[in-house]
Amino acid sequence: MFLPRSVKVKRTPDEDRSCTAKKHKLSSGGSLLEETTEFQDCKSVGTETSASTYSLSETVQEHTEPAAADLGVANTPLGKDNQNTDEDGSLEEPIKSFSKSQRWAEPGEPVCVVCGRYGEYICDKTDEDVCSLECKAKHLLQTQAKEKQLRSDQCTDSQAEAHLLNTPYFYKDHSFILGLQDEQVENLKLQLGIAVQGQQVPRPIVEFEHCGFPETLNNNLMNSGYEVPTPIQMQMIPVGLLGRDILASADTGSGKTAAFLLPVIMKVLKETETPSALILAPTRELAIQIERQAKELMAGLPNMRTVLLVGGLPLPPQLHRLKQSVKVIIATPGRLLEILKQSSVQLHSIKIVVVDEDKKLFKPPVLVFVDCKLGADLLSDAVHKITGLQCTAMHSEKSQVERTDILQGLLQEKYEVIVSTGVLGRGLDLVNVKLVVNFDMPSTMDEYVHQVGRAGRLGHSGTAITFINNNSKKLFWDVVKRVKPTGTILPPQLLNSPYLHDQKRREQQRLKQLQSSLVTGDNIMDIIKKHNKNNSQR
Ligand code: AMP
Repeated sequence: MFLPRSVKVKRTPDEDRSCTAKKHKLSSGGSLLEETTEFQDCKSVGTETSASTYSLSETVQEHTEPAAADLGVANTPLGKDNQNTDEDGSLEEPIKSFSKSQRWAEPGEPVCVVCGRYGEYICDKTDEDVCSLECKAKHLLQTQAKEKQLRSDQCTDSQAEAHLLNTPYFYKDHSFILGLQDEQVENLKLQLGIAVQGQQVPRPIVEFEHCGFPETLNNNLMNSGYEVPTPIQMQMIPVGLLGRDILASADTGSGKTAAFLLPVIMKVLKETETPSALILAPTRELAIQIERQAKELMAGLPNMRTVLLVGGLPLPPQLHRLKQSVKVIIATPGRLLEILKQSSVQLHSIKIVVVDEDKKLFKPPVLVFVDCKLGADLLSDAVHKITGLQCTAMHSEKSQVERTDILQGLLQEKYEVIVSTGVLGRGLDLVNVKLVVNFDMPSTMDEYVHQVGRAGRLGHSGTAITFINNNSKKLFWDVVKRVKPTGTILPPQLLNSPYLHDQKRREQQRLKQLQSSLVTGDNIMDIIKKHNKNNSQR
């Protein structure tokens, strides 16, 4: 049983002590919470509220609830002995286990400090509002982490460094992962599209915390915005941390780079011989991206230098850097061979080799149209940052050399997205474009027709996605007339727009007028009669 909010706020330490500890089990169903959750039963002592808001005073083991929710475990109601009983002994609503089963807070209501839902309960340890056991567990973990961080901040850097380098690291399944049933793990992999082959492949992790990384690395992950691992990371990181050979395949943008970088970082962290790891990438752009990500993740870790060995940049500085006790080499094969041929650099200290093949299935490029140069530059940057796709902008300020490079890049699959102003709208046959997005609707139907025509040239079929708003209201009816016959389902906002109906009505009126002025077999006698009448009147 749990205390009503108001009572909890007012209660004294003595009252707290009167609460008796009791271990609860969840009802059947193999919930992950089973036997891991302790609740303290406290007799309700107040009558002020409807007792709809309670203090959570159970002890929850690390990671239990959040991950349980992630795994889609049903929101198992608490067993009979968990149900709250008020003074009259009547049953109250069971305490919510998972955040997702809690409703959102109404204005003015307490808000869960973790997820923002209705803060129905008060955490007994911190007096903060939480919505469920899951969020209480998360909240306590966050609080612990903050306290830890505070403590570690108090250590001097060199102490922390020495500690980091002297503590051996071995990956083993986290207790939470070990506690999962085989069926749950298989279900998780199925849901996330993780397929594995091989002997004794370790279970995937569900959170980065399951890896037992040093604090600095965990902070770097947070700072890079990596809150939860992607599916390829979940499975690949434990395998990599065990030092096993891996052949992995996942889509572009799925987080492959961090999936191999994190085990590499952990492996080379304590290596004293340099260089310790070699990462080969097929292109300069990819190598640069990998190095950027490696630097982000390695920030603050001791002696973790990287070197980039790629063509198209001067060789001497790269050679010089290579000789500065770097831990990780990130190279394109051509430049690496060039360096090995001409210098005395030895690579016998290398223990880990990663080949980032990046041979993606051919995906036709996307052509996005916007209405101004600045829009093209900004959107191209944003798409690249958010999706990791290779993007470029095309507009009238690009020089002829740049334009040629972009068009060649499009043909050679260097670019996956081109954001362009109207300059690419007509003329050129961009045969491999299959998808056009009119991010800004052009100002005329003529231009629109040319732009959507970029998808599906030479008899190939293609798709166009058009964003349209009231700025283009004068074109509504024309667009509908043009697009509807293709079988496209049009948004009701467009079909129900008063502008569209107005345009349609005017067009029909114009047609009627036109029809009445045309001479046909049906109306010729009427026209003659009218003409005669007019003449006789004159
Ligand atoms: P990649 O597939 O390795 O090229 O990664 C694509 C993008 O996703 C990059 O911008 C990464 O920084 C980002 N990324 C990788 N892992 C995560 C993660 N766990 N959470 C959020 N973003 C990630």
